[in-house]
Amino acid sequence: MLQRSIWVFSLAIVTSATDIIYYNCTCQGPYCSDKTCIGRTCFVTEQIVSDSRDIRTDRGCFNNSIYEQCSSNLDMLKVLCCFSEFCNENVTMFQTEVEKPQEISLLLVTVLPIVLFVIFLMLFAFLFWKIKQSRRKKSLPRLIDFGHADIVNASIVGDSTLGDLLDCTTGSGSGLPFLVQRTVARQVTLVECVGKGRYGEVWRGLWQGENVAVKIFSSRDEQSWFRETEIYNTVLLRHENILGFIASDMTSRNSSTQLWLITHYHDNGSLYDYLQRTTVDPEGCLQLALSIICGLVHLHVEIFGTQGKPAIAHRDLKSRNILVKSNKQCCIADLGLAVVHTQNEDYLDIGNNPRVGTKRYMAPEVLDETIRTDSFESYKQTDVWAYGLVLWEICRRTIINGMVEDYRPPFYDMVPHDPSFEDMKKVVCVDQQRPNVPNTWSSDKILSSLMRIMRESWYQSPSARLTALRIKKTLNNLKNSLEQRKQDC
Ligand code: ADP
Ligand code: MG
Repeated sequence: MLQRSIWVFSLAIVTSATDIIYYNCTCQGPYCSDKTCIGRTCFVTEQIVSDSRDIRTDRGCFNNSIYEQCSSNLDMLKVLCCFSEFCNENVTMFQTEVEKPQEISLLLVTVLPIVLFVIFLMLFAFLFWKIKQSRRKKSLPRLIDFGHADIVNASIVGDSTLGDLLDCTTGSGSGLPFLVQRTVARQVTLVECVGKGRYGEVWRGLWQGENVAVKIFSSRDEQSWFRETEIYNTVLLRHENILGFIASDMTSRNSSTQLWLITHYHDNGSLYDYLQRTTVDPEGCLQLALSIICGLVHLHVEIFGTQGKPAIAHRDLKSRNILVKSNKQCCIADLGLAVVHTQNEDYLDIGNNPRVGTKRYMAPEVLDETIRTDSFESYKQTDVWAYGLVLWEICRRTIINGMVEDYRPPFYDMVPHDPSFEDMKKVVCVDQQRPNVPNTWSSDKILSSLMRIMRESWYQSPSARLTALRIKKTLNNLKNSLEQRKQDC
C-alpha cells in the first residue's frame, strides 16, 4: 500500500545546450564519495520509505545536461533538478506538501468525519455479510484477501519490463534514477551462481521473469563497485558492445555491507568461457574481433554535446571481462578500474581503486612501471595491448583449413599458471617475448590481417601501437571488402 501512495513530482529547467556550466552541488547518499560534487545539473530525489512517512533524500549531480532523469514519469519518485551553486542543499519537496497550510486542516475537519462514517457503515455491512456467508458455507476454508502482496509489488514499477524502464530513462547516466535502481534490485531473486571472479561472484537472477546478471562484490573490492556504479550513473554508456547496466545497490545484511551490480544477462558467458567450448570460422572470428573493438572505441572516444560522454580507458581488458551475446557479438564488461578523461578541462579522473589490472594482460610499460600515469593516452595504449592478446585467443580457436588450436591463455607457454608480476616482467619486458603466431594463419585473408593488427598492438613502445579507432577502421574495411567480394560472386 505504501509504495502505491508514493508521489511523483518533477521539475526540470532546461538551459541552452551550448553553454556548458558546471556547478558545485551537495552530495548525499550511497553513491557519494564526498559531501560535494561538480556537475551540470544538481538534483534532489525524495521517496517516502515507510509507514512512518520517513523521507529518504538523495542529493548529487548529473554530468550530462540531459533532463529526462529530472522528469521521470514512474510513480515512485519525486525529483528536483536545479542549476546554480549548491542549489540542491536545503531543498525539500514532500515537507512542503505535507505541511500544506490551513487548507488541509479545514479539509480534515469537514471531510474526515464523513469519510469515517462511510467507512464505519461499509465495515458494518461487510461484517454483516461475512457472518451471513460463514453461516451458509461453514465447511469452506476462510476466504483469502485479494493478492495483496502482488498488487504492492506490481505497483512499484507497474507492469514495466526492463526494456520499458530503461527506455524511459535516458538520463545523464546509463541507468534508472537511484531509487528505482534500489527498488528493482530488491525485487531480484538470485537463481544460480554462474561465475566466481577474483573479487566476488556473479549470479543469474530473475526480475519480473526476465534474466539479469547480479555481480556481488566482496567487501575488499568495494572500490570497484563504487567506481563502476559511479561511471554507469554519470556517463551515458548505452552501446551494443558495452555490457548494459540496470541497477546498483548497497544493502546492509547481518551487519555486513552487500554491494550489487545488476546488468543484462548473457547466456553464453564470457568470451573466455565461450572459447573453451566453441570454435569459430574466420567470419565469426572477425565478427567477435570487430564487435570488441567497436565497444573499445566507444569507451575511448570523448563525445561532445548533450548526448556526449567523456573518454574512458578500461585498464582490465581480457577475455573474462568480455561477454558473448546471443547474436555472437561481444560486449565489454567490468568498469571497476576505468579512468575517465575530459579534454575541455584536461581532467583525468583515475579513481582511487587499489586494485590493479590482470598481470597476464599487463603491457610492458605497466610491468616495468615506466607508464606515464598522468597521461590519458597511456591508459588507452595499455587497452590496445590487451586487445591484441584477446585477438590472439580468438584466432587460436578459428578453424583454418580444417585445423584449430586448443584454447590457451596468452603467454601460457612462458609463465606459470598464476603468474607473478616478476614472471610477467621477465617475459614481456626483459626477454621481450610475444605470443606465438602460427604460420597457418597467414594462409587466410582475415587471420593474416588480424595477425598484423596483433603485432602492431604489441610494440614495446606504447606510442608506436595502433589506436583502437585505427583498428576499427581496418576491420570495417576488411568486412566491407569481404561482403563486396561475396556480392560480386
Ligand atoms: P573476473 O573477476 O574474473 O573478471 P567477473 O566477476 O567479472 O570475473 O565475472 C565472473 C564470471 O561470471 C565471468 O567470467 C562470466 O563467466 C560470468 N559473468 C559475468 N557477468 C556476466 C553476465 N552479465 N552474464 C553472464 N555471465 C556473466
Ligand atoms: Mg571481471
